[in-house]
Amino acid sequence: MTTLDAAPADVRQKPPVDGEPCVLLKLGEVVLKGKNREQFERRLADNVRTAVRPIARVDVIRRHGVFIVRKHDADLATMDRVAQRITDVMGIVWAHRAWLVGKDVASVERAALELMDGRTGTFAVRSRRRDKRFPMTSSELDRHIGTLITDRYGQPVRLKDPDHTLSIEVDRDEVFVYSGGLPGQGGLPVGMSGRALVLMSGGIDSPVAAYRMMRRGLRVDYLHFSGMPFTGPESIYKAYALVRELDKFQGGSRLFVVPFGKAQQQIKTSGADRLAVIAQRRLMLRTGQLLARRLRGTALITGDALGQVSSQTLTNITALDDAVDLPILRPLVGMDKVEIMDQARRIRTLAISELPDEDCCTVLAPRRAETKAKIDDLRQLEKRLDAGELADQLAESAQEHRPTYADPTSSSTGSAPETPRETVT
Ligand code: ATP
Ligand code: MG
Repeated sequence: MTTLDAAPADVRQKPPVDGEPCVLLKLGEVVLKGKNREQFERRLADNVRTAVRPIARVDVIRRHGVFIVRKHDADLATMDRVAQRITDVMGIVWAHRAWLVGKDVASVERAALELMDGRTGTFAVRSRRRDKRFPMTSSELDRHIGTLITDRYGQPVRLKDPDHTLSIEVDRDEVFVYSGGLPGQGGLPVGMSGRALVLMSGGIDSPVAAYRMMRRGLRVDYLHFSGMPFTGPESIYKAYALVRELDKFQGGSRLFVVPFGKAQQQIKTSGADRLAVIAQRRLMLRTGQLLARRLRGTALITGDALGQVSSQTLTNITALDDAVDLPILRPLVGMDKVEIMDQARRIRTLAISELPDEDCCTVLAPRRAETKAKIDDLRQLEKRLDAGELADQLAESAQEHRPTYADPTSSSTGSAPETPRETVT
């Protein structure tokens, strides 16, 4: 496994003759979209441009199921950062930092030799032609370039499981040559599936739920209930930090924070007893629905997983659905905690979720929670509470924040990302 990044420094600094560093993107499900494909691709190209804007203004050129990302006067270091940043854009499967060279065999030869210079181990050449007007077929090009590299550097060819793969893609006006690449998120471009509101605790699950729905093309806003004034502001800081991290997947995220402590106390004093947890959740959902409608969202998203805690039995989930008309999306419903934690680690929210805080829901929770909440009992309780009015007030009290992702590579010092993602050839 290797990349350009793994090549010796002198190789990286020495661009092939006539070569321009660019990024070649492989798209995911977008290419399957038939009639809507044009719309999907345009949205995806917009999302790519927006995500990399703090690093560079780029052109995104759409070409037969791939995107070419170019920049006027591009330099290698900038295009490396652009490629890395694009791996967070939903809808991209691979980002390859490639050399764009002239559409002739000599240019390809030079670029191939430059790229393989200083490498050890086995290699394979994989060519494809998106434009057949080229003097060699793909397999002729494979053999020709393979022989050239072996003759020059003595590296053996190995077609199955090589240490290095040199890819050559012949396009309309140019040829792309690259080795290695960065895996992207896959999925659909954010914004393609509409808008929804995530109920965001400071826990592990809801950030993963948000991620999974963004990956299905939803643009999301976030709603957090804090236990204030009976808890400190820690849970708000956590929600803010989580949204800021998740913002790398969509940009422009909004976080709404509602102080929930007094409402919880009212639920408790109205004799909710074992129903308190479900009654609280229903009130959160009703508040969420009011806010979602204001934001033109058409669904709510939660991190519920079946059976994970007492409020997540099938009976209780049914009682939660009954509280609102909007659909409640629960992308984690069938996942194990271990799977959820793995995903949280990958999207870098786990460490934030594991910071200590006082969850608003544990503050006033009864010792034994109801696992089979009856909807009639809940409705009666809500009548006593005037829950509709309460939800109105809560939604009104929401404070809006704009947590913005700070790309670690675009700081003024221009430092490299802390942990580059694993690279596969
Ligand atoms: P999480 O890890 O997301 O907190 P959990 O396993 O702790 O989930 P619960 O605490 O029962 O489960 O919460 C279930 C879902 O309810 C959460 O995933 C979230 O969507 C929503 N939720 C819970 N607490 C809050 C809160 N304080 N603010 C907003 N939403 C919340
Ligand atoms: Mg929780």
